[in-house]
Amino acid sequence: VNNHGFKPHVVIVGGGFAGLACARKLAKNNDVRVTLIDKNNYHQFQPLLYQLATAELSTPDVATSLRYSLRGHANVDVKMQEVTAANPATRTVTTQGGESYQGDFLVLAAGSQANFFGTPGAKEYAFPLYSLEEAQRLRSRILAVFEDADRDPKLVERGALNFVIVGGGPTGTEIAGSLADMINLTMAAEYGDLAVNSARVYLIDHGKGLLGAFPVEAHAYAAQALQRKGVQLRMGIGVKELAPDRVLLSDGTSIQTRTAVWAGGLMASPLAANTGLPRGHGGRIEVGPDLTVPGFPGVYALGDFANIPGPDNEALPQLGSVAQQGGEWTAKNILAEIAGGTRTPFDYHDKGIMAMIGRNSAVAAIGKKRHELDGPIAFAAWLGVHALLMSGVRERIEAFIDWSWNYFGKSQPTQVLDRSEVRRIHWDEDSEAESLSDSPALKTAR
Ligand SMILES: Cc1cc2nc3c(=O)[nH]c(=O)nc-3n(C[C@H](O)[C@H](O)[C@H](O)COP(=O)(O)OP(=O)(O)OC[C@H]3O[C@@H](n4cnc5c(N)ncnc54)[C@H](O)[C@@H]3O)c2cc1C
Repeated sequence: VNNHGFKPHVVIVGGGFAGLACARKLAKNNDVRVTLIDKNNYHQFQPLLYQLATAELSTPDVATSLRYSLRGHANVDVKMQEVTAANPATRTVTTQGGESYQGDFLVLAAGSQANFFGTPGAKEYAFPLYSLEEAQRLRSRILAVFEDADRDPKLVERGALNFVIVGGGPTGTEIAGSLADMINLTMAAEYGDLAVNSARVYLIDHGKGLLGAFPVEAHAYAAQALQRKGVQLRMGIGVKELAPDRVLLSDGTSIQTRTAVWAGGLMASPLAANTGLPRGHGGRIEVGPDLTVPGFPGVYALGDFANIPGPDNEALPQLGSVAQQGGEWTAKNILAEIAGGTRTPFDYHDKGIMAMIGRNSAVAAIGKKRHELDGPIAFAAWLGVHALLMSGVRERIEAFIDWSWNYFGKSQPTQVLDRSEVRRIHWDEDSEAESLSDSPALKTAR
């Protein structure tokens, strides 16, 4: 409490792993007041979005109400608002609704969005996977093409059941494995021959191996695991352009599809460009080792929104564990500043990186030395790390047990086609020809 009897006010933008961890830690200290602003009223658990997209999990499994996560703390105010700009000099943010919030401290943790790297047509036609809404849209599209092909099997020749994943990093590899499982298990049971004989999953990456950040043994393991599930890998090939009905590749070939999933890279959320702050790789805010923005006292940036210096001068990766630990560290530093103490540099405890490749296959590279694991042991490590991440959100480990139960029980009736805007596909030649005529690369490819 300061000289005027007011509690210091911390404004946090973003209720993801970073912002929520910071808010939860500050909430326990009654000498601070916290306003947590998010454009949604929920925290989305990004690592499980691909399971929502493939109908293995339903929305409440991957999203938790922010008010629920912070309930019982009278010093915390949750506001559902989209922040459109931030003024770091005054530590003020303004929202789409025209309100402004000023803090003694400002924590910017607005996360990521897809980075299309200027690929023509990607913004219009690709299905990215960085938000709950995007995962729901993808799920509806997958279900819609199956329904359409069931009604008119001739659509299969026009690529209705071709699914193209762009990017072979953890997100692309995980969604490819999960989609192949969905086709081989659920869709095969529900659509029979149509799924078994006609559905194809392609994964395209311009690199030579999947899961570039993992040890080289993991690349081969992931490739074999996907191929066993029927995924066709096109490695060493780039995606040149997306059209409404196909993906054009750098080798001059194309794949007809209505479902191109973008897992080709990420960048900071649009808010980063409206802060006036220096931005580095991926448009992320440059911060010092203690996650503060140099030159702006009281301003912090964290999680996927920031370029955080790590050991050997390399930035820390965009991971839930980096974000969550960064959020807690920031709360600790803010409390130290309030108490007149000094901030300490963020000391990230690296548990490793891991990816699940469909049911029962996973790779993990554990610890700083990146000891490589695969198969059931890696799967167990994946469960352990995600249990920790999830308990940071919901407090109760039972939430994770619920999730595991849903995941391993194979009878989830979650094939719900609920996003009307993606269920209507314009299959008729006229509308297709019209939209394709806008595509210069396609004209040459035809
Ligand atoms: C498909 C996928 C799988 C992944 N798998 C793993 C994994 O297995 N393990 C792992 O460690 N990491 C994984 N990650 C990465 C991890 O999810 C991210 O690093 C982590 O979510 C970053 O946390 P964050 O708090 O910085 O951002 P986010 O979790 O993205 O949260 C940002 C929040 O800010 C809000 N927001 C954004 N803009 C505004 C605005 N203008 N106004 C108000 N609110 C705003 C958003 O609604 C969101 O709630 C995965 C990511 C994806 C996409």
